[in-house]
Amino acid sequence: METFAERMRRATTEAGDAGLAGLLVTPGPDLAYLTGYRPPAETERLTMLVLRAGGEPVLFVPLLERHDAESAPGAAAVSLVDWADGADPYAGVAKLLDPHGGYAISDSAWALHVLALQEAAPRSRYVPMTRALPMLRAVKGPEELERLAAAGAAADAAFERIVSVRFAGRREREVGADLAGLLREHGHSRVDFTVVGSGPNGADPHHEMGDRTIAEGDMVVLDFGGMQDGYASDTTRTVHVGEPDELEREVFEIVRRAQRAAFEAVRPGVACQDVDRVARTIIADAGYGEFFIHRTGHGIGLSTHEPPYIVEGETQPLVPGMCFSIEPGIYLPGRFGVRIEDIVTVTADGGRALNNTSRDLQIVH
Ligand code: ZN
Ligand code: ZN
Ligand code: ZN
Repeated sequence: METFAERMRRATTEAGDAGLAGLLVTPGPDLAYLTGYRPPAETERLTMLVLRAGGEPVLFVPLLERHDAESAPGAAAVSLVDWADGADPYAGVAKLLDPHGGYAISDSAWALHVLALQEAAPRSRYVPMTRALPMLRAVKGPEELERLAAAGAAADAAFERIVSVRFAGRREREVGADLAGLLREHGHSRVDFTVVGSGPNGADPHHEMGDRTIAEGDMVVLDFGGMQDGYASDTTRTVHVGEPDELEREVFEIVRRAQRAAFEAVRPGVACQDVDRVARTIIADAGYGEFFIHRTGHGIGLSTHEPPYIVEGETQPLVPGMCFSIEPGIYLPGRFGVRIEDIVTVTADGGRALNNTSRDLQIVH
């Protein structure tokens, strides 16, 4: 496994290659990736890792969290600087910065911190991490792949069980609660989302779950995931309560073909946008192009959505070790939706799915 020190060195080099003087990393997936440190939450007290060329990594932490930071897996590779309430941590960070340099800063850094830092170092520039260094965490190492595969297998095991619960006559949120319980039972430490989109609700990709009572004849989109061992799962299957009609079968079959063809297009060197195009062309040729209203996929790892994005305009070539979703869908407003989603990793000569439950239209009751 790449050590935290190696990751920090590589990140600093990549920042230099991008014309930046370094990185400023606040709590979240980037900090976990680079140092193994996961403070309980990002708060108004500044926690910030400063990486810059020619200097050792420095992690600023609130004094009362010093002990937590010291026990982080990568703590030995950083020099810890604590600051007490009443002190100005931004002045301390600013002292380390090249006053005219550009810095990649965590996407989710609080405005409170970014603006204070801008005041403390007014001539430095700040660029969002995923814009400056989109590929920082995109290529997974063997240990990361193992964890992603385990999270995927747990989500699959949850799906295998959910198809035998009662759907008809129960509310979406009851089925969602079952799903959340199953994810935890199979090893997830956290459940982040359990979409149960029945009937017309399935046509809204952002519908999570509600009080609608699921009925015989409904298509039901199930999209669920969470965290296991620090890594995310995210899979979608669409099931039908009782026998589907002809239109439902047709739409399902188109999505399935698009999903499979996009998966088969995965191999090193293929541009992300080409995977999107494969899925989109199949759906458009079938006459449903206007009903496929989102990108084909997103990278996944320490966070659920991260680069690389499988979207038109993303010319980044696929590299072995990248992990992302392939999740085309068709959404017919007022009627139903269909989506099929697998997490896939790029191998030396193709792709490997980390979700492997049946992609047939399963009948539930
Ligand atoms: Zn139906
Ligand atoms: Zn999903
Ligand atoms: Zn997804």
